[in-house]
Amino acid sequence: MIPEPYGGKLVENIMSENEASRVLSENLPRVSTVLEQVYDAEKIAIGAFSPIEGFMGSDDYNQVLEKNQLSNGLTWPIPIVLTPPESSELDAGDEFFLNGLDGQPFALMKIEEKYKIDKGRFAEKAYGTRDIAHPNVLDLQKWGEVAISGKVSLLKRLSVPAAQYEYTPKDTRRIFEKNGWKNVAAYQARNPPHMAHEFIQRMTLERDDIDGLFIQPVIGKLKKGDYKPEIIMKAYEVFVKNYYREDRVLLGSLSIAMRYAGPKAVLLYAIMRRNYGCSHYIVGRDQAGVGSYYDPYDGQRIFDRYDVGVKPVKYDEVFYCTKCGMMVSSKVCPHGPEYHVDTSQTKIRKLLVEGKQLPLEILRPEVAQILESGDVINQ
Ligand SMILES: [Zn+2]
Repeated sequence: MIPEPYGGKLVENIMSENEASRVLSENLPRVSTVLEQVYDAEKIAIGAFSPIEGFMGSDDYNQVLEKNQLSNGLTWPIPIVLTPPESSELDAGDEFFLNGLDGQPFALMKIEEKYKIDKGRFAEKAYGTRDIAHPNVLDLQKWGEVAISGKVSLLKRLSVPAAQYEYTPKDTRRIFEKNGWKNVAAYQARNPPHMAHEFIQRMTLERDDIDGLFIQPVIGKLKKGDYKPEIIMKAYEVFVKNYYREDRVLLGSLSIAMRYAGPKAVLLYAIMRRNYGCSHYIVGRDQAGVGSYYDPYDGQRIFDRYDVGVKPVKYDEVFYCTKCGMMVSSKVCPHGPEYHVDTSQTKIRKLLVEGKQLPLEILRPEVAQILESGDVINQ
């Protein structure tokens, strides 16, 4: 069964072109904010964060931080807040335009509440650290101290590099239904595909309880040293086209700021994928981690504590074994580490930086070609 949206209600607040141009002719104040919140505003309005209809008020904000739940009791791991860097005179009841990536209005908001946030507490509770070496904690530095809550209505979609892949939850639900997929597994990615990813995707497609696979890389804001969004999408595009059945796999993209919050981020991504219509969610090793802030398998364990209506599909770390002659995990391979080839992004990147050829046992040639094309890493 394609699951009901999270919280039972699929949000979609996107204005028609006529409505948007009428609203745009009003002379309303304009507010700019940090990139990650621009992406969030759009995801709220298209329903990816359903049942949330707007940026969180203080009740939700505090309960999410303290108890991992919304004020209505629904599990929610990380606050979704709007904290424009520049303070404004606007007050509760006021309407304003939120500026998009190009500095032009793309959403309409009406302020419900203004409240102060403590960024140290946010960092501590949401990311488990105040260390600014953590990319999301570093981002908090640019946030304002005052949060504005209120419903978001979209005037237009954001212009992003691979806009044709930016489906709304309504779109993907329609596609899944058209394909006759009832049980769809979501695959979260933030890297171009290599053999370990492919192995996990294929294992999932082989399951008799899975009809389709929805591969949805995060391509919004990534951190320094990550692959560029357009490279990730290009690599996936050529990979999916060459190696998967069209009637089993859908490629989409998700433009949000990557939350490197370990298990909490995994839970948030699972909730979002449920809204896109997925019944299952693939969780490998260290899915949304960074540095050594989180245990690499806590992202799998968190599903034992919280049920968000999505079944986790868990995998151990996989690697290429020269003795087995294929991708394996420690669940099946009896051979020692001397036979195991490191297929990690770290190794791939090291070879890239050194200008060396990327070995075929870890990367498809079509993908290797894209990664060897030069300027592929975020500076
Ligand atoms: Zn082996």
